[in-house]
Amino acid sequence: MEKDTSTTDSSRADFIREIIKEDLRTGKNDSRVHTRFPPEPNGYLHIGHAKSICLNFGIAAEFNGLCNLRFDDTNPSKEEVEYVESIKEDVRWLGFDWQDRLYYASDYFEQMYEYAVQLIQKGKAYVCDLSADEIRNYRGTLTEPGQESPNRSRSVEENLDLFKRMRAGEFPDGSRTLRAKIDMASGNINMRDPVMYRILRAEHHRTGNKWCIYPMYDYAHCISDSIEGITHSICTLEFEDHRPLYDWFLNELNIYHPQQIEFARLNLSRTVLSKRKLIGLVNEKQVTGWDDPRMPTIAGIRRRGYTPAAVRNFCERIGVAKRDSVVDTALLEYCVREDLNKSAPRVMAVLRPLKVVITNYPDNKAEELEAVNNPEDPGMGMRKVPFSKTLYIEQDDCREDPPKQFFRLAPGREVRLRYAYFIKCTGVVKDEKTGELIEIHCTYDPETRGGDAPDKRKVKATLHWVSAPHAVTAEVRLYDHLFLKTDTDSADLNSNSLEKIKSCKAEPSLAGAKTGARFQFERLGYFCVAPDSSAGKLVFNRTVTLKDEWAKVQKGQKQ
Ligand code: ATP
Ligand code: MG
Repeated sequence: MEKDTSTTDSSRADFIREIIKEDLRTGKNDSRVHTRFPPEPNGYLHIGHAKSICLNFGIAAEFNGLCNLRFDDTNPSKEEVEYVESIKEDVRWLGFDWQDRLYYASDYFEQMYEYAVQLIQKGKAYVCDLSADEIRNYRGTLTEPGQESPNRSRSVEENLDLFKRMRAGEFPDGSRTLRAKIDMASGNINMRDPVMYRILRAEHHRTGNKWCIYPMYDYAHCISDSIEGITHSICTLEFEDHRPLYDWFLNELNIYHPQQIEFARLNLSRTVLSKRKLIGLVNEKQVTGWDDPRMPTIAGIRRRGYTPAAVRNFCERIGVAKRDSVVDTALLEYCVREDLNKSAPRVMAVLRPLKVVITNYPDNKAEELEAVNNPEDPGMGMRKVPFSKTLYIEQDDCREDPPKQFFRLAPGREVRLRYAYFIKCTGVVKDEKTGELIEIHCTYDPETRGGDAPDKRKVKATLHWVSAPHAVTAEVRLYDHLFLKTDTDSADLNSNSLEKIKSCKAEPSLAGAKTGARFQFERLGYFCVAPDSSAGKLVFNRTVTLKDEWAKVQKGQKQ
């Protein structure tokens, strides 16, 4: 797979849209455009699904068409109502609306059964007594043709009778199947008499115990598209080899025939986009659930603080292509930052507090300083931030023995406190045992109120800070990639993907922050109030850092 270098701001000229424009020009399908998003409710949606959602709903909106939400619920042993509900929530969250077009493949079970009977009557389907293992062994390989089932030449009457009895529950699970009679020597293995129905006694989340035979995905999928009058059936590349089978079913049944168009699925670096693997992480308790903020699920990134606009933007930037590629996660993070930069108010919070005493500041004085809410958007106004004799700064922002490239606070050094004053370090207090700094002493220059010196003298660093007596305490959760390597197949979990910091200090304006509210903590990144935050215990999730790794990736590619 190659690296994806696309940085285009619009995907609105991709090959799928070209096909649709041409179909509209020639009046195909009476100039209708009707797409669908067809998830199987066997897990939560991930960011790869977001690409498909944006594509299908996006195309419908652009071409005055319609997009259905259809659950491909043909496998009752893996499907659950919880998944159905989460998928609906996620599609809505992304900003899309299926209006009254919510469908289930299971709504068509009766029709699918009728169609299967028609195929039997035409001599195009037969009941097969081979077991699943035997069917696999008879199938042949890419280089060798398959072997015909001993039941392939059963009479139409016998097939009709057996299929009816399969439905009636006369045979045990797995003892018989209904198979399409196509060609055991086909170069395309999908065409070697594929199974259409199997016997399975499993309660279905919608049809209950009404059925004990269930249609296979390939049979059900193309018929569902046909029934719904889908014009452009957009799917990922792995279904290209299944298209001849869909064509065969629809032609033999002589029913409406949607056009299938395949595109490359989204692969993201440093994560996995496969429900099967994500279920593994949940079941093995490697994460707290499907909505763990480290998960690449829609529920996870929502909890993490990503915005729907950022995800839509990302999907537009990556575009759609015919060739597989891996997109760098840095691009997704870039899109999140880009969106939050405009919309999230800036505040000050200190993750690892170091106490600062301003020795020449009056003991009981406190003043309110003006701070800008978002320099990108003056309309977001100003706020007041309290200043007093005792403050907190980041432990990282002060060193007793600063290394060469360290320009922040150190004994004898002056820095700016954002929106406040210049301060100069006059002494440090250390833990006798560990040698760690536990408190520092500074003087402030009253002439520098607001952060500028009248004599124009310069400082090399501007630090964020909070006033100790006014600060609110918060827990902050920092996230890193779930996987260590870019290789998405590797199970190399990053054991340091979550760091909880319990007693961070934040400016008092954050006291009543509502769940889901997003902020930029100056110099630290974008954060959102976690769903488990409460009035008594403020909790923030870090959505993304401020470091633009995407710029670095791009720069590397240019060189
Ligand atoms: P997974 O491989 O994660 O289990 P899936 O393809 O089995 O996914 P479905 O519920 O069948 O999951 O997917 C619904 C739709 O989303 C399908 O049309 C599928 O092609 C599309 N889709 C799934 N994964 C991706 C992806 N990574 N990129 C783009 N589209 C995807
Ligand atoms: Mg699938």
